[in-house]
Amino acid sequence: MPLSREFDYLPPVNGPVPETGCRVWAPFGRRRQVGLVLAHAAQSSLPAAKIRAAGEVIDETPLLSPAELRLLRFTSSYYHHPIGEVVAAALPALLRQGRSLYPSVETVSATDTGEAADIQSLAKRAPRQAELLQVLIDAGGDGCEADRLTEELPGWRRAAQGLFDKGYAARFDTRAADFDERCAVETSPAPQLNDDQQGAMGALRSSDRFAAYVLDGVTGSGKTEVYLARMQDVIERGMQVLVLVPEIGLTPQLVNRLRRRLGIEPAVLHSGLPDIRRLAAWRAARSGAARLVVGTRSAVFTPLKRPGLIVVDEEHDPSFKQQEGLRYSARDLAIARAKQLDVPVILGSATPTLEMLQHCREGRYQHLTLPARAGGALPPSMHIIDLARSPATDGLSEPLVEAIRRHLDAGGQALIFLNRRGFAPTLICGSCGHVAGCHRCDSRLTVHARRNELRCHHCGASRPLEPACGECGAAVTPLGEGTERLEEALCDRFPDGVITRVDSDSTQQRGSIEEILGQAKHGNANILVGTQMLSKGHHFPNLSLVGIVNADQGLFGTDFRSSERLAQAILQVAGRAGREARAGEVLVQTAFARHPFWQLLIDGGYQQVAEEALAEREQTGWPPFTRLALLRAAAHRHGDALAFLDEARRRVDAMRASDLRVLGPVDAPMARRAGRFRAQLLLQSASRQTLHSVLGQLRPALEEDKAGRKVRWSIDVDPIELF
Ligand code: ADP
Ligand code: ZN
Repeated sequence: MPLSREFDYLPPVNGPVPETGCRVWAPFGRRRQVGLVLAHAAQSSLPAAKIRAAGEVIDETPLLSPAELRLLRFTSSYYHHPIGEVVAAALPALLRQGRSLYPSVETVSATDTGEAADIQSLAKRAPRQAELLQVLIDAGGDGCEADRLTEELPGWRRAAQGLFDKGYAARFDTRAADFDERCAVETSPAPQLNDDQQGAMGALRSSDRFAAYVLDGVTGSGKTEVYLARMQDVIERGMQVLVLVPEIGLTPQLVNRLRRRLGIEPAVLHSGLPDIRRLAAWRAARSGAARLVVGTRSAVFTPLKRPGLIVVDEEHDPSFKQQEGLRYSARDLAIARAKQLDVPVILGSATPTLEMLQHCREGRYQHLTLPARAGGALPPSMHIIDLARSPATDGLSEPLVEAIRRHLDAGGQALIFLNRRGFAPTLICGSCGHVAGCHRCDSRLTVHARRNELRCHHCGASRPLEPACGECGAAVTPLGEGTERLEEALCDRFPDGVITRVDSDSTQQRGSIEEILGQAKHGNANILVGTQMLSKGHHFPNLSLVGIVNADQGLFGTDFRSSERLAQAILQVAGRAGREARAGEVLVQTAFARHPFWQLLIDGGYQQVAEEALAEREQTGWPPFTRLALLRAAAHRHGDALAFLDEARRRVDAMRASDLRVLGPVDAPMARRAGRFRAQLLLQSASRQTLHSVLGQLRPALEEDKAGRKVRWSIDVDPIELF
């Protein structure tokens, strides 16, 4: 368990005192580790004899400015997480390992002779050499870094020697290439903004100081055009813009759009990049050489020389929250950072979270709305298919199959969407709508497919998973992992169709999501089947039908955010339909056609769903009307996890904080994972101060607790999943 302490060192024996924000090698036990100078102190609470001197200084000038250190300290204190791990999360891997800011890298590349060589005949004599040569040729003129080769072709050095001897390849040390902002693409002019967009721009341009703007616009309403226009302002003034996107998969299309509009190359930061490129982008952001910085979650920590604006695209996306280790929300930190830097932050979404909407209601954030699609495209029409009347076989009802046929005949594309994320799977009968419930407490059972059982997460009762519905006897199959089955069923029904499945499994097997989607966008697929991956920000010009196969999971989710999440999932994927000339149609299959949620969603849209949900949360006291923190514990023995949390609860109770609710400890909804039993204790308060003061006292006590050694535990502030 990492410690939340800072460690005192004397200055290095020879040489100057490193400034704050510089790295040093620090002796630690019998090893030395990379340390970051956080502060200078005149005194220490340790006896002088016990303080060791720091070793060699790694950075001559600070890597991080005081403002950036302030953000790290804020993160550490807000999330009650060790500062050392926050620093680690904020620094690119190479810097974390103590490499120089300008590391030189061993690189191997194919020579001209190598490129002209006959690979096929080489492959017969020396297959490993041929394999390596092909990799080098594919890598192009800049060659391949040794580190990457080691990862991809372990043992490559022997083959490399053969290539060097033949003159097919050469190795050299390069100073990592610097980022260059110039880009060659032809820029395309911005469209004339419509009235709604101009209204939003007016508000955004009113100040260059801190303000949070929630840009709430239906999919296709032109939010991105609004960001682009505001970015252009800021960049022309010589300031930098930081753009956060939820997933790597979304960066290429945004990056292309940024390039084309703004005529500069953005520095891109995400985990899919080779370390050296990521570091180059990081340096460019830090030095100001890149005016536009685009990245996923951890990019929120990127140092900026002249910050002018922060944009968070798809603010509602759960990927902004890290779900392990330092469980931070990049969106929330983006807002905190904007405030510290006194620059504006724009939070865009077609389905803003209730947290953001509530801030708007309270007047702390500004709500900017774009109610209609830009460029004249019509909003898609949405309808329910009642599964009680039109039962589904293999996940497809007859009306959905007919609709697919109709759209394909008209030259359109269909997207069949399986909602899989964020909901514990319940067992619902497709013919009578019966939901498997617990006999001992009034809750729904969760399907544990691997163990073939249904289990209650409130009382712990379990029973075998029966193949027939307990109410009507019809065959039931738990929904959840059905994309493959759905793909098969579609192939049967549409033997002439080109069917493409996109989910995390298929993308692992068949190359990058960009390639698959690229083909799909160009019309090579006429039916797409997939999960959440398909619903985000992608633009399929011919897509005219969206079929949502298993929306019901979300109607009965166990989490208080279920209906918010369900509405977001449906509207995000619905937003893929009819973005250009073709009118879009959205069909939702449900066994609960009379559930009030559907009427609300279809008649009132997200706004109505959000309003109802907010009213309900206010009544029941869930966020955003209260704040939560979750203490999680996992141990090999069930009793150890619970005992640890019981003790934590005793400590919290002893603090006698007013206005604090403590719930649990209880088993986590997913009570066992990777051989460990998991349990949790939920802390809830209307006051952030209360919650933080409790956590501030609790954390050091837990670090001391001997029982904690048998347990893996963590504190999750503002959890977004309660398991
Ligand atoms: P969002 O980010 O809200 O999904 P986009 O900014 O991607 O919306 O815009 C959706 C489509 O409408 C894009 O093809 C975009 O080029 C076009 N568009 C946006 N604003 C305008 C406008 N004012 N005039 C014409 N077309 C526009
Ligand atoms: Zn039934």
